[in-house]
Amino acid sequence: MLLAFAWWSILLWTNNRDAFNAKVELQRMAMVAEQMAQHQDSGRSEQRIIEEAVREYYKSEAYLSLSKYYKRREYMIVGEGVVFVISMAIGVWLINRGYNKEVTAAQQRRNFLLSITHELKSPLASIRLILETFRKRKLTEEQADKLTRNGLTETERLTTLVNDLLLSAKLETVYEPHLESTDLGKLVRDIMQKLRDKYPKVAFSLREDNHIPAIEADRLGLTSVILNLLENAVKYTPDSPKIEVVLDRVEDIVSLAVADNGIGISDKDKRQIFEKFYRVGNEDTRRTKGTGLGLFIVKEIVKSHEGQISVLDNQPKGTIFRIQLPSSKKAG
Ligand code: ADP
Repeated sequence: MLLAFAWWSILLWTNNRDAFNAKVELQRMAMVAEQMAQHQDSGRSEQRIIEEAVREYYKSEAYLSLSKYYKRREYMIVGEGVVFVISMAIGVWLINRGYNKEVTAAQQRRNFLLSITHELKSPLASIRLILETFRKRKLTEEQADKLTRNGLTETERLTTLVNDLLLSAKLETVYEPHLESTDLGKLVRDIMQKLRDKYPKVAFSLREDNHIPAIEADRLGLTSVILNLLENAVKYTPDSPKIEVVLDRVEDIVSLAVADNGIGISDKDKRQIFEKFYRVGNEDTRRTKGTGLGLFIVKEIVKSHEGQISVLDNQPKGTIFRIQLPSSKKAG
């Protein structure tokens, strides 16, 4: 297409020049004829009359305005060419961007299907196995207790997954935060206590840099936000996890930061992790469990509270997720 366009531009340019030359030639001949007629009897040689007529023509108003007119047409051809090339570059860029978006979306859908299949199938398979073991074998009390606990963990996993799916669908359609006065410090301490029992090897700590006032928030929603951030911090910190939550307040903005010493997130992925179903890497090679819904839910709930979420690198390694919420303003 570019070649065809270049060809047409050259053709237009040449035609323009030919038309100009032809008109100049015509006007020059007319001028020469006129001068010849005027100086017929002056005794000057024909050659001189022609030379003078030509010289005069190139200084004449007719030649100057003709050359101005064709110069303008040349600028027009160049201008149109530039506009065309720019429009084409923008078009190609837009098509390419759309294509890349489509490829990423398809990849995410595929990742989601793979992970959700795994996340649904594996607890169901475990629960089934546990029930079959109960049916076929006589178990000691200790064995039965262990299996029951495993079964409950798997059921909890399934419940979380189904809740996440329902919540994310709701967040995209009818979610309205149910605001009530919430003590953020207490909420974090309660969640942390539960996680300490669940992950005894993880070092959780809480720092309150300022007095944190009660905020107007949806307690269930905020629980989901904090739980997701803390669970992620554990999940993506394979070696000796140290997870710190810092609560702070600047004027009427309350902030909650979750810092871990885990694998970190590249700058490119930082821009995408909040998208629905987005998971870093590829589902075929990824080891951790998940669906890519967690941070989408977190972002949407924070947004519904008119808050903001950001992600930064921790030092020397790891990630910090920080949410900022207005303490007094009611969510709209
Ligand atoms: P999931 O954990 O189910 O994959 P999320 O939406 O919670 O989905 O997170 C999206 C992606 O962001 C994760 O797949 C992971 O790659 C990355 N991520 C989230 N939290 C962290 C963290 N604390 N450290 C490193 N990577 C993280």
